Amino acid sequence: MLSYQHSYHAGNPADIHKHAILAWMLDRLSQKPKPLSYLETHAGRAVYDLSSAEALKTGEAAAGVGRMLGKFAPDHPYRKAVEALRAEAGSTAYPGSPWIAAHLLRADDQLHLAELHPQEHEALRVAMRGRARVHRADGLELAMSLCPPEPRRGVLVIDPSYEIKTEYEALPPFIGKLHRAWNVGVIALWYPILKDGRHRGMLRGLEALQLPRVVRSEVSFPPVREGHGMVGSGLYVVNAPFGLAEEAERIAGMFAE
Ligand code: SAM
Repeated sequence: MLSYQHSYHAGNPADIHKHAILAWMLDRLSQKPKPLSYLETHAGRAVYDLSSAEALKTGEAAAGVGRMLGKFAPDHPYRKAVEALRAEAGSTAYPGSPWIAAHLLRADDQLHLAELHPQEHEALRVAMRGRARVHRADGLELAMSLCPPEPRRGVLVIDPSYEIKTEYEALPPFIGKLHRAWNVGVIALWYPILKDGRHRGMLRGLEALQLPRVVRSEVSFPPVREGHGMVGSGLYVVNAPFGLAEEAERIAGMFAE
């Protein structure tokens, strides 16, 4: 199991969609002088090298960060995060969601990251340099055990690799349970939009929960490679920060250009 490795896909169009919305939310939430919790169930290695053999094998980043970074205003928190990492680690570096979170959050914010793959976990631990608590644990189990976190304000990102088909069915009841345990938490679930529409049943399950302040953002893009089934990216956000719907529209507009 655990055959998925994000190094092959880092910086692809789905990453841009997910990371730009995440960066905007964290920037917005950290404007209030109150500490936050940041939890992530499927963290990945936090820093990717787009000149690695894995990234070059798929070439997915060309249609993502390669094509799109310049479309963001220079002061957009996503663009600033990518440029900050590149100033530190070189022009082919790309930040994963944990790096973006650690960059945007403040010293008194608490970060908990789960990553199960041994190599990815080790790389994550090194990249975080003590800035986050890095757990080698099942992400959903960890999230449930930590919720409600302290501080209570905060964000949970769920970004599974969807290697196991039952994940689609398991996620709505899990998110319902999590929301009951942490009713003020911002919960952001990423999902792929696949040609075969596999995500639709999951969305019906989520809608049935009638969770508060939901923003659902979806963008479409051509398959990154011939025969690739992913034709878009979705983010389902519960307790969305004020203004997210408008920001998500702006970001979707960049994909349409
Ligand atoms: N969120 C990352 C980002 O945007 O930079 C990308 C994460 S990648 C899509 C999914 C990661 O989840 C992989 O690194 C994989 O090893 C890890 N993983 C898979 N199953 C897991 C589980 N049950 N618990 C924790 N991590 C898991």
